[in-house]
Amino acid sequence: MRDRVDLADSLADLPPLSNHCAVLVVQHVVDALPRSNARCRVLVPTMGALHRGHGELIRVAREAAGRSGEVAVSIFVNPLQFAPGGDYEKYPRPEDADDEFCRQAGVDLLFRPTAGEMYAADFSIAVDEHLLANVLEGKSRPGHFRGVCTVVAKLFNILAPDAAVFGEKDFQQLAIIRRMVRDLNFPIEIIGVPTVREADGLACSSRNQYLNREEREQAAVLQRALQEARRMVELGDRSPEELITAAASLIATAPLARIDYLEIVNVETLQPVANVGPDSLIAVAAFFGQTRLIDNLRLS
Ligand code: AMP
Repeated sequence: MRDRVDLADSLADLPPLSNHCAVLVVQHVVDALPRSNARCRVLVPTMGALHRGHGELIRVAREAAGRSGEVAVSIFVNPLQFAPGGDYEKYPRPEDADDEFCRQAGVDLLFRPTAGEMYAADFSIAVDEHLLANVLEGKSRPGHFRGVCTVVAKLFNILAPDAAVFGEKDFQQLAIIRRMVRDLNFPIEIIGVPTVREADGLACSSRNQYLNREEREQAAVLQRALQEARRMVELGDRSPEELITAAASLIATAPLARIDYLEIVNVETLQPVANVGPDSLIAVAAFFGQTRLIDNLRLS
């Protein structure tokens, strides 16, 4: 895999794509199914407002699909995974910019359904995960992973990909999707992609655009705090309590930050660890004003 690069910068150097590379944009489920002579298809599920993180997922999807394969991106702001009163209504939906992003990234198929296309008015079946979904994000956002699993299962059925690409930024989501694929026998390979960051370490996110200037400046403290925990591990500290205290003190230097959770868990079980080991990960969620950001880092 080549080094991660700024997709927008790297694409700027390329000659314009020919019409041959136009993205097929479809809204309806019937048009999204692969044809009978289908090529290998790799799916990147997103909620749009595409940024460099999504660009990296698309690049990895293209690599996995190969020259003859097809890269499909879905853009769907899934109402089922937002809490009542959450940011569902105000979530950014820059359709033209997303179309152009997909075109420049060489996406073959863009599936952008409406909520009505995805959910019948009397929709009554959902997918629940019971072991991994109740901690961390699931504890703070009850019902969130039911929404995620349900929509991803539907996208897998609708688009029938051979593989699907997800970001490690949402590492709990990635773990739960891997579990769903295993437990429900989806014949789909799941590919994880490391988190893409801004120059100051802040993880790229569609929600970063909600931040005002001060919040944006202070948000970089999250990654610095996680890095500090990793530095302590490298120096031999194995105590989750000490690492969490140190990381929390660093976050507290940013007056606009309000921690939702800060935990050290096993990457497989997502349960808190008694001692930091090779499978430990530190995860944080914090508010800056109204905006809730998440990040995580493997500790060794
Ligand atoms: P979203 O549109 O926020 O639902 O994200 C769609 C996919 O992009 C998910 O698999 C995310 O984990 C992934 N993603 C979002 N931000 C990043 C990032 N900064 N680096 C890598 N993957 C990301």
